[in-house]
Amino acid sequence: SPLVSENSMDRFETDAEFIFLRSNENPYGPSPLARKAFADNVNISNRYHWDVAEQLIADLAKKNSVKDENILLGAGSTEILDLVAKYASLDKGREPKVTGANYVIADPSYDYWTVTLDNLGLTKNKVPLTTDKKINLQAMLETVNQDTKLVYICNPNNPTGTICEREALAGFVTRIPQNTIILIDEAYLDFTQQQSLSNMVNDHKNIIIAKTFSKIYGLAGARIGYAIGNKAIIDDLANLQSNTNNSVSVLSKLAAIASLKDDKFVSDCYLLNENVRQYTISELRKLDCECISSNTNFIYFSLAKYHKDYFRQLEDHHIEGGRIYEEQGKWTRITIGKMDEMKAFIKAMQ
Ligand code: PLP
Repeated sequence: SPLVSENSMDRFETDAEFIFLRSNENPYGPSPLARKAFADNVNISNRYHWDVAEQLIADLAKKNSVKDENILLGAGSTEILDLVAKYASLDKGREPKVTGANYVIADPSYDYWTVTLDNLGLTKNKVPLTTDKKINLQAMLETVNQDTKLVYICNPNNPTGTICEREALAGFVTRIPQNTIILIDEAYLDFTQQQSLSNMVNDHKNIIIAKTFSKIYGLAGARIGYAIGNKAIIDDLANLQSNTNNSVSVLSKLAAIASLKDDKFVSDCYLLNENVRQYTISELRKLDCECISSNTNFIYFSLAKYHKDYFRQLEDHHIEGGRIYEEQGKWTRITIGKMDEMKAFIKAMQ
């Protein structure tokens, strides 16, 4: 029998007692069209089907108003972040561990992947957020020096859910030296009304945009993401990926192609997320927890005035939440699940 029952929006049956609010996944996904694509295509898994990658690349190029040559597929955006880390650190593979080489990242931001940069010898230059938990673009700019190989901007930022205004970000990009790579991670941009910076990649050869199907498209376990960049930089990244465009299974690629056609699913998820987010923020505020206004499917909030043992409360109610990101102010992050899950979360806190 299948591990997940038909039409289930949920999880392994063995985990049915748990509520997962830790990894910013989409609680409603995959989309119905993606489920159908998985089911309909199981029987072709015996073939490599490289042509499917070409189809997906063409669809993504169209969606992002770029050319096919501007897209590189990866096994989740994590593979893209990894390739960029290697590319930036190794100076295209020619000069490992350049003395003084560094990268610039906001703090806190999404940094699980930066271990590759650290291990390849780059120094991490962390730039504190503003007091309202936004990425401080001016301070980031001032931190960039001639040995900066990479600047990373997560927009909207994980874990804070704050967003850089598009015009400010576009201006920032133009002020970064040509020899520094700017990696813009748009994993959560689909939860906003803001346009991608993908239209800048041809004029700015040092920009790479990382995108994923793991969030609003609900395909986290299918591992599919992509990069958008200038042809030259995409070619360089492709040279670091031995199975270029094909580290992702044919089923995941077909599910991604189907998902791109399911606009209703995406807009439904967007609206559901907004509604449940509003509910959760208002309930958290009633519990005296300061919340940062969120542009994403998670909420960054403070436990400074919350008097119970938060992690104990969650554990007792079989809820998996996040960790503390900033000791000062006891800031933590919670993923927005379905309404009934967030009601259970609030009840656990009460
Ligand atoms: N970027 C950000 C900002 C994330 O939060 C995540 C995952 O949570 C990722 C990238 C990696 O996602 P994936 O490899 O599933 O595309």
